[in-house]
Amino acid sequence: MKEARVVIMGAGGVGKSALTVQFVRNVFVSTYDPTIEDTYRKNLTIDGQQCMVEILDTAGTEQFMALKELYMKSGQGFILVFSLTHLASVNELGPLREQIVRIKNARVPLVLVGNKSDLKAERQVPREIGTNLSRAWGNVPYYEASARKRINVDEVFADIVRQCRSLEAGM
Ligand code: GDP
Ligand code: MG
Repeated sequence: MKEARVVIMGAGGVGKSALTVQFVRNVFVSTYDPTIEDTYRKNLTIDGQQCMVEILDTAGTEQFMALKELYMKSGQGFILVFSLTHLASVNELGPLREQIVRIKNARVPLVLVGNKSDLKAERQVPREIGTNLSRAWGNVPYYEASARKRINVDEVFADIVRQCRSLEAGM
């Protein structure tokens, strides 16, 4: 696989842009315009194979359902992010996943991420909520990550690329 098209989604403020920018540029950007929707590219070698990862960092401000559907159609893998410091951000992911599964199919490459693991004192979401959701979704991989401390950032993206590869290889 030469290219993997990944879409990162979730509620506003959970750290989608921070995770993406940390992955692509190795910096933590603490003030990123919440309305900016942008595409990033990074060349990766995973398991000895080179791959260009294209990431669509969504802003959730799509005015038209059709636009959202369009990028769901064009995406190959999806990273669904909530914040470990904001319980309500978990609830936004169910409907998103349903829409993705409807547009793609149940075997769509997916990763679930609980971000901001560095903010231990502000944590609202116990690990079990993430692991239970992962199980309910057919054992999608679940990572607790920190864009700020660069914890599990590479792992999340490597996981989704591996899943995209397996799907393409018909495995
Ligand atoms: P987005 O709306 O999902 O793209 O969220 P942003 O990436 O813009 O992040 C929203 C806010 O959360 C910003 O103030 C970030 O600095 C902060 N943030 C994002 N990721 C982390 C993290 O891993 N740890 C901490 N402490 N703050 C984070
Ligand atoms: Mg953003």
